[in-house]
Amino acid sequence: MMETSLELDLPDSLSMEALGTRLAACVTQGRVVFLYGDLGAGKTTLVRGFLRALGHGGAVRSPTYTLVEPYQAGALRVYHFDLYRLADPEELEFLGVRDYFDGQAVCLVEWPQYGEGVLPRADLEIRLEYRLPGRRARIAASTPAGQALLGCLAKREQA
Ligand code: ADP
Ligand code: MG
Repeated sequence: MMETSLELDLPDSLSMEALGTRLAACVTQGRVVFLYGDLGAGKTTLVRGFLRALGHGGAVRSPTYTLVEPYQAGALRVYHFDLYRLADPEELEFLGVRDYFDGQAVCLVEWPQYGEGVLPRADLEIRLEYRLPGRRARIAASTPAGQALLGCLAKREQA
């Protein structure tokens, strides 16, 4: 049977980055990943681990004011969104986000609930919650491609 969801305990930032590393090993071009979780839940930390694993050497910050940050990480084009300050999902149209979700890039979206109605459906949804001093991740797939991604993550978890 295929996995439909995965729950992980992430006791520290390093294990959150490591989840990003695993995601990088499993991801394929065109995937859309939504990152839910309160301020400080670790969304950007996960993205940092993801980009580092793909060879990005520079800083990775939440693009809170610019809404989106593009990266060329190895062979992958990656767009990192933070929609926390998005006033209206319509703004995304002005940013030309439809072009970003064209299947040629990986899109990682913090605060996707603010882009509802304009963002396409996610392949994978990652929900981060506080479980002090660490965090807990609940990961669910919503498309066949997301299922494959989740299956890969689950396999790497066992290894
Ligand atoms: P977000 O993007 O969700 O607002 P950040 O990724 O900026 O959150 O992380 C906020 C803080 O939480 C950082 O100091 C980070 O090191 C820390 N952090 C991230 N993941 C964990 C974890 N699994 N356990 C403990 N602290 C974590
Ligand atoms: Mg953030």
